[in-house]
Amino acid sequence: MSRYLVSGCLLGHNCKYNGGNNDNAAVRAFLSDKDYVVFCPERASGLPAPRLPSEIRGERVYSKAGDDVTAEFRAGAEKALAFCQNHGVTHAVLKARSPSCGVHAVYDGSFTGTVVPGMGVTARLLKENGIVLLDEEDIEKGAV
Ligand code: SF4
Repeated sequence: MSRYLVSGCLLGHNCKYNGGNNDNAAVRAFLSDKDYVVFCPERASGLPAPRLPSEIRGERVYSKAGDDVTAEFRAGAEKALAFCQNHGVTHAVLKARSPSCGVHAVYDGSFTGTVVPGMGVTARLLKENGIVLLDEEDIEKGAV
């Protein structure tokens, strides 16, 4: 049986960097007949909300102020993986382009809104451990 992990911000949790959320009606509809659990890796790592936005540059993650927050993002990814393993998660619906949750693309580290192919830190770790990933745009496009 499939069980989904869902980015908290997609279900209205105010865990986004600006203290808001990305509540998504298509995701809610998709999940209406599914088994799911909700998680935010950045909040789980102890980062506050609101917080400065961060982006991936190379192998590391930096806040907009230039602080290296790679350790926090890796800690959040490890917590997300442990949560998935403890809850029998097989699939995930994650927020597009997030430095933690991005599935197909991320911002390029320049804080100019430039998007490049890549994955968030949590998304990559979950995929490496066999979890099937979607983002909200896959759902909105009807790709699943
Ligand atoms: Fe949403 Fe993921 Fe960012 Fe948390 S880390 S606010 S779940 S995109």
